[in-house]
Amino acid sequence: MSKLVRCISIDGTVTVMAADTTDMVEEAQQIHITSAVTSATLGRLLTAACFMGIVLKGEDDTVTLRINGGGPAGAVIAVADSKGNTRGYVSNPIVDIPLSDSGKLDVGAAVGRDGTLMVMKDLGLKEPYIGQVPIVSGEIAEDVTGYYAVSEQTPTVCALGVLVNPNLSIQAAGGFIIQLLPTATDDAIDAVERCIKGLEPVTAMLSRGMTPEEICRKVLPEFELDVLDTAEPKYVCNCSAERVIKALISIGTEELESLAQDERTEVCCHFCSKRYIFTGDEVKRILADAK
Ligand SMILES: [Zn+2]
Repeated sequence: MSKLVRCISIDGTVTVMAADTTDMVEEAQQIHITSAVTSATLGRLLTAACFMGIVLKGEDDTVTLRINGGGPAGAVIAVADSKGNTRGYVSNPIVDIPLSDSGKLDVGAAVGRDGTLMVMKDLGLKEPYIGQVPIVSGEIAEDVTGYYAVSEQTPTVCALGVLVNPNLSIQAAGGFIIQLLPTATDDAIDAVERCIKGLEPVTAMLSRGMTPEEICRKVLPEFELDVLDTAEPKYVCNCSAERVIKALISIGTEELESLAQDERTEVCCHFCSKRYIFTGDEVKRILADAK
């Protein structure tokens, strides 16, 4: 079971979240049959979406992250809500590129560095909130940090990691996010800087069996922390025949009339690969209802 914990320092100057998303990323790998580097890419973005989703206030609020840097993975999307329900996809699930110079899965090269990270928050208002920042490295964590700095003016330290086994199953996935609150004093800022110096990779902590709460305490040893809330991130798709019909209607009458001539129309959900099949007669009925 994936787990996420959000803590605040008792002096109210800093928050820290940590997550073990191994199971959720494993499920994403099985749905999308991703190669190692795309598992790492999608897994990092899904984990980042969990962190951004959990702080949303409304039941139905969602956050969507989309990164596309012109690399071979294409666009990578992750969506999460406040309850930890998360889903996503990568345009090209199979990318085969050499390891980076440091021997790691080269997420930055898979994503590319020429493009943007877009964050869209649907808070049930008329218009969604959209923030967009240029990609820093394509490694996702640095891009998320850049987003928080530029769009939300929140000093952030973010680490995300996915370890992939040789058989492509997920050995460990997760991350942490430290954020300074507006109340942070210079002393608190200095303390955070001391804490994060020389930290080991988050996947090393997860591989040793550390829980998210233990990771929170490990990354901020100079602060006394209170747990604010916890969640169990899950890979959940909310697609349904009803939603697919809505999407079909949105492509326009002309296109629908042309589909109605076909014996069958197959629509595949990007997020969970579920297939929805409509006969020509069914498309005609959708068309009639839409008019
Ligand atoms: Zn679906």
